[in-house]
Amino acid sequence: MATTHLSLIAQDRIVYEDDVDMVILPGASGVFAALAKHAPMMAVLQPGEILVRKQGEEDRYFAVGGGFAEVRPDEVVVLVRSAEAAEEIDIARAEEARRRAQEYLSSPEKERDMEQRLAMEAALRRSLARMKVARKRAAVRSRGAEQTPYPQSQQEE
Ligand code: ATP
Repeated sequence: MATTHLSLIAQDRIVYEDDVDMVILPGASGVFAALAKHAPMMAVLQPGEILVRKQGEEDRYFAVGGGFAEVRPDEVVVLVRSAEAAEEIDIARAEEARRRAQEYLSSPEKERDMEQRLAMEAALRRSLARMKVARKRAAVRSRGAEQTPYPQSQQEE
């Protein structure tokens, strides 16, 4: 099977780089797959999860903040605010971030500026993505599954 070269780059580090079979990305206008020989495209990404599939290896999941993806026939470059591999995620921290964001968003709106509200909505989406990715990994591990069929894995919640 032809592979594509994935570079997953966050603001502070290169999180993952390898030749892979398939990448599933959280596009702002919908989840999409990038495989080798994909037509060139650029996409805005929203906070969510990335699935990386490589033959002979366990599927990898990453939680990402918003950003961009550039897809070319032999390469996928993902530039995001933040990215963590499932095993790096601190669930308690993500839960605390979710609690803070929900508290802010559910409190009275007066004297709240739109910019802060949008920032909190994005923080909430990042925290939910982190929890989803971390829990998905735990579920896959407990099932002992090597690969979860896609898109079934996206519909677990
Ligand atoms: P928090 O309020 O907990 O800092 P945040 O969404 O504002 O969450 P970011 O600004 O997106 O955090 O990320 C800052 C750094 O912390 C990045 O390097 C990111 O990968 C890391 N990070 C954030 N939350 C977690 C988490 N729950 N587990 C592991 N790393 C995290």
